[in-house]
Amino acid sequence: MSSKPSASNQAKYIVGSTQLISVKEALQELLAAFHPLESETIPLSEAAGRVLYDGIRSGIDLPLFTNSSMDGFAVRARDVAAAIPDNPVSLTVVDDIPAGKTSTIKLGENQTSRIMTGAPVPEGADAVIPVEDTDQYDPKFRSSFELSSTINVFRTVNPGDYVRQQGEDVRQNDVVLNANYPLKPQELGILAMLGIAEVPVFRKPKISILSTGDELVPVDQPLESGQIHDSNAYTLSALIKRDFGIPEYLGIVPDDEDSVRKFLETAAANNADLILTSAGVSVGVFDYVRTVVESDGELSFWRVNMRPGKPVAFGNFQGVPFIGLPGNPVSAFVGYEVFVRPAILKLSGMSAVPRYKVRARLEKGIKSDGRESYLRAILRYHHGEWTARLTGHQGSGNLLSLVHANALIIIPPGDKSLPAGSEVDAWLLD
Ligand code: AMP
Ligand code: MG
Repeated sequence: MSSKPSASNQAKYIVGSTQLISVKEALQELLAAFHPLESETIPLSEAAGRVLYDGIRSGIDLPLFTNSSMDGFAVRARDVAAAIPDNPVSLTVVDDIPAGKTSTIKLGENQTSRIMTGAPVPEGADAVIPVEDTDQYDPKFRSSFELSSTINVFRTVNPGDYVRQQGEDVRQNDVVLNANYPLKPQELGILAMLGIAEVPVFRKPKISILSTGDELVPVDQPLESGQIHDSNAYTLSALIKRDFGIPEYLGIVPDDEDSVRKFLETAAANNADLILTSAGVSVGVFDYVRTVVESDGELSFWRVNMRPGKPVAFGNFQGVPFIGLPGNPVSAFVGYEVFVRPAILKLSGMSAVPRYKVRARLEKGIKSDGRESYLRAILRYHHGEWTARLTGHQGSGNLLSLVHANALIIIPPGDKSLPAGSEVDAWLLD
């Protein structure tokens, strides 16, 4: 990671502390500080979801050789031009070509070779007759294993029928995959077909995660009065893994300045590409994260005009990019989706942030407070359109309403009231 957020931004957003930066501006500023990581070469078997560093050109034609697309008989189309079911054409069988074998026998007039799907079409042949259209096929027993010395063909074919031509899919030197795209299963398939056993991809970003708060207790320890389990660490780690980053959970940090500093120093020394904290960035008297970051780094912004998740902070600590998410579990989730995911995808080399985004019609009217709002909703598709209704109480600590949601609907900044039937953008979560 190179460039740091500039100090001049600090003044722009922090002075006065009531000034909120828009989501759009915040995202622009944040993304400007992240750059794609270096490349590494990994085995193809581990490459699903990883982002290609270089485009891939084919070294070969696909198919590499002209081959049969059916189990049947290789023929010269002109030899069977008169074949009909009542008056079949008889051909002499000169070879048997299973997949994997190349025949050395060139077909002459009225000759045929039995051929299996994927086997190279022999010299002289220009088409294949499916076995079902010969007397070598009995639907009860499927095709016979015994090979007769002659066969009867019941139909005609055109030259090229049931033949896959060399290079019809890919030509040697064609660009088959572009850089900066994540590899999907079918792309691993084509890379394997091309004989590419190792692929150049962007290194996975490493994200150090800290949960801050005196009230937090690890999930496997009993709660005392006033305590809660640290849930954000689990949600954030899983989101990072989903986005092909490497989460490194450094633990729970108590609400005191020295502990926060010590943990941030550990994170910075840890070669993290991003330090991700939750909680302790708001205006509470024990919210030390901002103070510590500013003491040995810079804060670029720390309040965004959004709901939930206003206290999102961004900057760097000792030169390592830092994103401070709010503590409330739903705010942390939304903050991740809006800011952290795009940053991780940019580090991972992706050229754009894919979102399953649709327009949806509100089933009921919604009141908002003018901030850009990301509300938990259930989207349904019926009568040719998406409709949306909220999952219930939108309190930023209420995780169950996030669990019940399949989308976040987005109320634009400035809108305070949307009547039933209004159209909104929605991000599908599943
Ligand atoms: P804060 O930002 O520190 O004021 O925290 C806001 C709210 O989020 C408080 O109710 C915290 O108890 C809660 N919270 C903070 N961190 C976590 C966490 N890691 N998991 C679950 N809830 C949290
Ligand atoms: Mg706190």
